[in-house]
Amino acid sequence: MSMVITREHRERAAGALVASAVGDALGAGYEFTHPTPDTHIDMIGGGPFGFAPGEWTDDTSMTIAVATAATQHDLRTCAGLDSVVAEFLRWSGSNPKDIGNQTRAVLSQVPASAAEMTRVAQALPGRTGGNGSLMRTSPVGLRHLDDGVACIAAARAVSDLTHSDPRAGEACEMWSYAIRHAVLTGTFDGVRQYLDVVGADTKSFWTPLLDQAERGAPADFPNNGWVVHALQTAWWAITSTDRSNSGHLAAALEQAVRAGNDTDTVAAIAGGLLGARWGLSAVPPRWRSQLHGWPGSKADYLEDLADRILDCIAPRGERLG
Ligand SMILES: [Mg+2]
Repeated sequence: MSMVITREHRERAAGALVASAVGDALGAGYEFTHPTPDTHIDMIGGGPFGFAPGEWTDDTSMTIAVATAATQHDLRTCAGLDSVVAEFLRWSGSNPKDIGNQTRAVLSQVPASAAEMTRVAQALPGRTGGNGSLMRTSPVGLRHLDDGVACIAAARAVSDLTHSDPRAGEACEMWSYAIRHAVLTGTFDGVRQYLDVVGADTKSFWTPLLDQAERGAPADFPNNGWVVHALQTAWWAITSTDRSNSGHLAAALEQAVRAGNDTDTVAAIAGGLLGARWGLSAVPPRWRSQLHGWPGSKADYLEDLADRILDCIAPRGERLG
């Protein structure tokens, strides 16, 4: 499929990666705490893993790994998924401060290919529905901007590398589809539209959960280390804040952190969709300028990755900025 990539597409694609990283860095200082509703949320750093103010965590590092693979490959292909695995191992070899439990268990086996990694993930005992694949899914919607069916397939395959629980796969499909839709249209409608293009079981599982997120409060979905409650908390943060202007992006990220518990990951998830909807220009400059992390990078690195991913769909006629 061929399509024209506009300036707006590039602005929103960059917004998806940068706002996700901003949410991650914003939440890092509050992980496993429960800020009160009047807590001033800022890039304070610290938290259980001692991040610097503005430093992103594993959520963004793994997003960069997926994004880097996406600059060269279709993420549904063996070559694309093998490249994601190689990038994951490059990152985990850098001795990161924090790696999620499921991801650590899979990467510690040093899988030689995506097929092997997926098999290792499937063999993990116990609960396999952590939020660790949802937090890194934002590049998938960019790479498959021209094809919603491909976007869903790629989201599932990248999730399955570490998370075999089908709900983790569905959450990644939904969020990637919604990010793609937001980059294309500048709306949040893709979340619900995903449910119209998937099977009846998936639709009947998620519809009441989205309803609950829109009507409820974080106490209704408190286990946000679980992918289902993480997605609900992110959707709650997005839908419970004023959506009438681009100030929504910052307000919803703060709201996501105030929900407490796995604050960096929930805010990273929310940020991916918020940035795709509102674009890079909605990211507060004070946050964008503080942003940094593996591999010794800043926000402009994420913006360049987004541009290079879109170049795979259609070469640029005009550079952003
Ligand atoms: Mg993290």
